[in-house]
Amino acid sequence: MLTVKNLNKVYSTGVEAIRDVSFDVRENEIVCLVGPSGAGKTTLLRCLSGLLDRSGGLVALDGQAVTEPPLRMAAVFQDYSRSLMPWYTVERNVALPLKNKFPSPADRRDRVNAALSAVGLDGFGSSYPWQLSGGMQQRVAIARAIAYEPEVLVMDEPFASVDAQTRADLEDLVLSVQAKTGTSVLLVTHDIDEAVYLADRVVILSSRPSRVLDIVDVDLPRPRDQIETKSLPRFAEYRSHVLRLVRGLGEAQDFSAATLIHNEEKTRSV
Ligand code: ADP
Repeated sequence: MLTVKNLNKVYSTGVEAIRDVSFDVRENEIVCLVGPSGAGKTTLLRCLSGLLDRSGGLVALDGQAVTEPPLRMAAVFQDYSRSLMPWYTVERNVALPLKNKFPSPADRRDRVNAALSAVGLDGFGSSYPWQLSGGMQQRVAIARAIAYEPEVLVMDEPFASVDAQTRADLEDLVLSVQAKTGTSVLLVTHDIDEAVYLADRVVILSSRPSRVLDIVDVDLPRPRDQIETKSLPRFAEYRSHVLRLVRGLGEAQDFSAATLIHNEEKTRSV
């Protein structure tokens, strides 16, 4: 669906943010990008959503080169307070990007209501963003993205500024919406537990200039559950593997199911 090939980005200041990054996001898949702070994750998302010029390499959506923000992609950024229009109601904020894609006003209204309902904001359509808590404002930003029905949903640290409980709720919201709609999701986070919990695959980036250190297939059962999934021995193995790489202590390794089962059995027998 989304292909990133040998992507490079050097800012005009001479800062080399991304070096030779390649990965893809398949249909109906959640890919999480993790890496240290300042690695170049936001730069990478901006380059692949057509918001920032690349210095080299290729980004393609369904085989078509991305040169400007593609209509089939929606983005949710960390800073919801800047992404919502404070002078528009919640409903109007969610409806904003829909006008060209869905010409019928009645259809748009239904989509806005369905998206607000999916994020647990029934009854808040006529409120203004500033009347809502931070977590609720972020839900509005997510509702806006899902109402649009993108083929690819790109999220940059979408839960970084909310409290832990809201964060867990929003993670589960993304999982349930993705399971319902089949949208491909690319999500940047520096939270390794979050990446392993959400992802089908985790792309691990090095410190700047960002390079791909490893791509880990996360073979944990779905639907996932905050308590059950995170208590699985395999969850802990994925987590330590990703953490070691992010901290620059480990090497890419075979994370196939067979190896994991073997390791689990070893742990049990000890
Ligand atoms: P991350 O999202 O992983 O924290 P960023 O993509 O924000 O990293 O930044 C990567 C590097 O690029 C940092 O060193 C940052 O200072 C630099 N950078 C980001 N934006 C710009 C810019 N507009 N001009 C010059 N350098 C930038």
